[in-house]
Parts: sequence; C-alpha cells; structure tokens
Amino acid sequence: MPFVALGLVADLARAVAAQGYTAPTPIQSQAIPMILAGRDLLAAAQTGTGKTAAFTLPLLQRLQLDQNRALPPGRPRALVLTPTRELAAQIADSVRVYGHHLAPRTALLVGGVSMGPQLDALRRRVDVLVATPGRLLDHLSQKTVSLAGVEILVLDEGDRMLDLGFLPAIRRLLALLPKRRQTLLFSATFAEPIRELAGDFLRDPAVIDIAPRNAAADRVEQQVHPVDSERKAALLSHLLSAGERDATLVFTRTKHGADRLSRQLERDGIRTAALHGNKSQSARTRALDDFKQGRIQVLVATDIAARGLDIVQLPRVVNYELPHVPEDYVHRIGRTGRAGRTGLAISLVSVDENSRLRDIQRLLGHPLPSSVVEGFAPSDGRRSPAPATPASGARRHPTHRAGPPPGERPASSSPRWSARPETGSGDSSRRRHPSYPPRRAATTGDRI
Ligand code: AMP
Repeated sequence: MPFVALGLVADLARAVAAQGYTAPTPIQSQAIPMILAGRDLLAAAQTGTGKTAAFTLPLLQRLQLDQNRALPPGRPRALVLTPTRELAAQIADSVRVYGHHLAPRTALLVGGVSMGPQLDALRRRVDVLVATPGRLLDHLSQKTVSLAGVEILVLDEGDRMLDLGFLPAIRRLLALLPKRRQTLLFSATFAEPIRELAGDFLRDPAVIDIAPRNAAADRVEQQVHPVDSERKAALLSHLLSAGERDATLVFTRTKHGADRLSRQLERDGIRTAALHGNKSQSARTRALDDFKQGRIQVLVATDIAARGLDIVQLPRVVNYELPHVPEDYVHRIGRTGRAGRTGLAISLVSVDENSRLRDIQRLLGHPLPSSVVEGFAPSDGRRSPAPATPASGARRHPTHRAGPPPGERPASSSPRWSARPETGSGDSSRRRHPSYPPRRAATTGDRI
C-alpha cells in the first residue's frame, strides 16, 4: 500500500520516497490514518518499527504549515517529548527529513548543551518543538517558551520516561498545555503505569499494539557465552578481534563499568568510546557520530543507549553484563537487526547473573542458545545452569557448561560473528516473539 493511500499529501509521500521507503510499516499503516483523523493514540511499538515517521508525517500534515502565517515566536504548535537527548536529536532530524518539502521550523531543547542557540531558536517561530522534560522545564521557568499554543503532543518512549523518573516532570508539563489538543502516547509496553498515564491524559484514544508482531528481536540471532566475570574483558577482546571487525555496541550496567571497559579495549588495540549519562553532551554526540561513521569499532554504553538510538548499520550487540530489568534486554538487542537486516546479540554471562538470565528467558518465553568459547570455560563450580522455566513447548538449553553434551553444537574457538540461521538447538524458539507482560520496571536511577 503506498503512503498516499493512508491520506498523506504528496509533499510528505515524496519525502518518504526519497528515503527509499516503498511501503508503510504496520505502525505507520495503523497510526497515520488515526492521527490524521484527529484521534488521540495509545500505541505500543518499539523503536525500529518506524514509529517516528508514524507520528511525524501526520503531525506535519495536521499542522497545515503555512510559512507565511504570522505566529508568535517561541510558541510551538506541536511538542514531542522524549526521554533522552540523543533520541530528541534524532527525532528533530527526522522532522526535517520528512518535512523537507513543507519546511517546518523545528527547535530542539535538550540538556547538557548551552542555552544560547536554544534561546535563538525560541526567538523565532517554532512549528515543532522536540525536547527532553528537564530542559523544557528550565525554559518554561525562564519564560523563554510558551506551551499555550500546543495543538499536538507526542509522548515518545513513555515507559522509558517513567523508568527514568520523569512522571512528575511530565505531569507539570501537561498542566501547562491547552486542554484541547491531540495527544499521542508511544511506549514499548502497555504496563500499568502507562495505562494510568493514558487514562489521565488521553481522550478516548485509539489503541494500537504493534510490539508483539514486530519485535526487532525476531531478526536477531541470540547467543549466550558463560564465562567467569573476571575473564569477561579478555573474552570480549577475543571476540572483537576474531573475524571481521564489524561495529559492535557493548552494554554495561554502570557508567564506571563502561569507562573501565572502554579503556581496557583501547589498551587491547580496539578503537572504542564510552557513552553514558556522565559524559558531556558534546562527548556523547561525538562518540555516537564516530561510531556511526565507522571511526571507532566499539561503542560501550549503558542503557541510556538501549532505546531509541537508530544505528541502521549495526550488526552486533554484546551484553557485557545483563541488564537490571529484563525488558531492557529486548531493547538492547533491538539496536541490531533493524530496518530489515539481521543481527547478532551475544551475552557474556557470569554465574552471579544466572537469575537475571532466568528472568530474561522467562520474559522471552524460551531459553537462549548457550555455548562456551574455547579457552574461556567458566571455572569449576561455576557451571550451574540457569533453567529458563520455558513456556510449554520451548526446548531447554543447557547453559554454563564447559563442553557440550553428545549431539549438541561443540564449543567454538572461533565464535560466529556473522548472523546466519542458527543451526544448533534453539532455532525454533529464537523466532518466537518476546512478550511484554505488564510489569513495573525498576527505576534505574543515576547509574546509567
Ligand atoms: P524508528 O522506529 O522510527 O526508529 O525507525 C526505524 C528505522 O526504520 C529508521 O532507520 C527509519 O528510517 C526506517 N523506516 C521508517 N519507516 C520505514 C518504511 N516505511 N520503510 C523502510 N524503512 C523505514
């Protein structure tokens, strides 16, 4: 189905065609007509499903941008709120790309950078404002921006906003918006707090649930390597140096852990940068840019990078440590296997992480294939399996063993870095979609 069949004007259809999109994704097919019709929307869709275009295209059309219309400066007509600066910057870029022929005026308000250019932008007319909650509140307190003219509000990555403790800020911001407006809430899950938020702030929303049918993890081959925790860095260097030196996003649990590992990999001759919440915005932008441009091979990141980042050419993700919250595993591995490509997600799992692995496998509904890398077998007494309590029908996978039982894939000394169909056991279960049971994620606080 072409984009124009969804009701989009030719200028927008031309812009998406220029991006090489031939057909709308499922979230786009469902959301665009609803948004064009003026409905509020509650949509469960992960990043990677095309959700940015799903809200940006109809939003631009509804604004009926008329560049000659005199509007007061610093009074946006559409507001997009996102949890992280990187995501906000990406969305602002997308607004410019999709709005190429309509030329919307876009402003980006995020923390960690100086106020000057933001104040300049707010002294002019603003059609679409993309912001993170904290910096937007700063501007509001200084009265440099007014939300009184907002016609459309987009809350992106709603569940992440709540995880990061933005609920009070969101409530304050919503109180400053006109009551008559269109509100679009996107979230990877429909967990209870999201439903509460929707109940409070959305009017008779259309509900779209794309996540179960469109999980990025579906195209991602997953592999667990059991290893002693003190040998993880050596194993990672070994894996990164073997075969092709493709770009790899590595996740750690803490900021210090990310810095430490990044230094270690540099010492091993692997070009690396770290990305986390303690870095200045310019360092974060530079690291991401270097990674996207291939100037560094490895980006070591905390979960701040797990959602929202769109790095199309990312063949591999490594969980150096498993995440605090099982749902973050799905978001992390969703950084690869995007835009129709396949990807590989490796998890280095030490014995103290067995319970996290179990939680992840429970969330996925199946066990993950596991193999020991030769030379990195966990020491004796550290081979206890992490039974997955799999959903009925899922086959069980042995984990944390030094060698394979008869008939299973042997431990590999040259781990596979290319994503190709899994030949070992676990193939059928790997293709199952992750489910998103409504559960409250732990607050990750300041660690990331
Ligand atoms: P998003 O979920 O918005 O982060 O989008 C994920 C990726 O999909 C981005 O690289 C988009 O450029 C790409 N994309 C969005 N819509 C389409 C489409 N209809 N066809 C092909 N790629 C798309």
